[in-house]
Amino acid sequence: MQVHDLTLMLSLFIASLTGSIVLMSMARMSQKVEGARYWAAALGVLSLAYLSQISMQNAPRTLLVTTFNTCLILGHSLWLIGAWHFVYVKPSLTRIAILIVPVFILALIFTVIWPDRECRLAVIGVWLICVRGHYGWVLWQHAKHDKNEYLATQITVVVVLLEIALSALYTLYGTFGSLPNIGSTFSWVGGYTWLVALIGIVAGTPLLMLLSAGRFVRKLEYAAHHDELTDILNRHGLSKCLENIMPLSKRKCDSLAVIMLDVDHFKHVNDTYGHTMGDAILAELGATLKTQVRSSDLVVRWGGEEFCILLFDITPTHTLQLSEKIRDTFSKNVLNLSPQFITNPITLSAGLAFSDTVSRKHIESTQALADRALYVAKKNGRNRSELYSNEEV
Ligand code: GH3
Ligand code: MG
Ligand code: MG
Repeated sequence: MQVHDLTLMLSLFIASLTGSIVLMSMARMSQKVEGARYWAAALGVLSLAYLSQISMQNAPRTLLVTTFNTCLILGHSLWLIGAWHFVYVKPSLTRIAILIVPVFILALIFTVIWPDRECRLAVIGVWLICVRGHYGWVLWQHAKHDKNEYLATQITVVVVLLEIALSALYTLYGTFGSLPNIGSTFSWVGGYTWLVALIGIVAGTPLLMLLSAGRFVRKLEYAAHHDELTDILNRHGLSKCLENIMPLSKRKCDSLAVIMLDVDHFKHVNDTYGHTMGDAILAELGATLKTQVRSSDLVVRWGGEEFCILLFDITPTHTLQLSEKIRDTFSKNVLNLSPQFITNPITLSAGLAFSDTVSRKHIESTQALADRALYVAKKNGRNRSELYSNEEV
């Protein structure tokens, strides 16, 4: 069977287009994966580059070369921009312009104004090596902090290194040797282009999918364990967290405390200020709680307008002080949410309980006691903290 250059280009076109469609569907899923949109666009643009090789063989050479190079530059730039987004770095417009504009202008100069194939190949080759190298570096730096994405990133880096090595050889030969053009009969340059792109695209695309799928699963896990409105743990998240920390907490901690918090007359707050403002108030409470507790404490949205804080190694006096500080800070913060709109103070009631033993069972029983103390706080007039005591309940 005779394999000619255009068949190889066709295979690259199909591979990049398929990758683009899969990544686009992933990007459109509700839990958006950072960077996936750019990677989908990158593969889409690269597929256009290969399509131009197949469909524009009879077009003027300058037009074919300009189209191919433009798509190649844009495609690889979008690929890198996707990686920046994936590692939570939002690139500035200046950074994007520095990435694209100089190489684009140089490629155009060496194609249209002062046609020089060797110079053009050198410029694009060196640019590609830098861009792919930076892409590998960006992911590698990120993977060091993220064990879940480590394996996919390690393989990506190996692929990128191979790609860079081949691109370096190709660029050197293109600059100092004489490469034939890609055409309708087989030439080793067509085969070589195919090999470099095969490694970059055909091996790189499943890795992009793996990275995106991994991030997607992590987002789903996060969503299952966190409350969407306040971005703090939900009950399921608390169970999961306790599973992880309990063995260590049992050994290291001597006591635990639970604070149950409930917004006073929240139904009335909703009726007066509207449900949207009610939501904003709950989000404010979540934010206040996050800033007031230690990183070792667990804050949970228990349900509705009720929140639970689990603290380890803390005295009853300190817990009471913390509860009062939270109530005070929340009431002040909430007034600042919309000073003209919220005129009456919005307050919290709190129930506190302690245990000298740290275990799953004791967390549950202490939470139940804190709940009873909360009931007492409500009964005694709201806007207060109550410590659990046998006599009162
Ligand atoms: P109390 O002082 O006794 O706690 O009175 P309350 O009105 O706060 O208590 P109740 O249990 O009667 O009402 C709770 C209200 O909280 C009713 C419900 O509509 C509201 N609520 C629960 N979850 C949300 C939410 O996510 N957003 C908003 N805006 N309101 C919520
Ligand atoms: Mg309430
Ligand atoms: Mg309630």
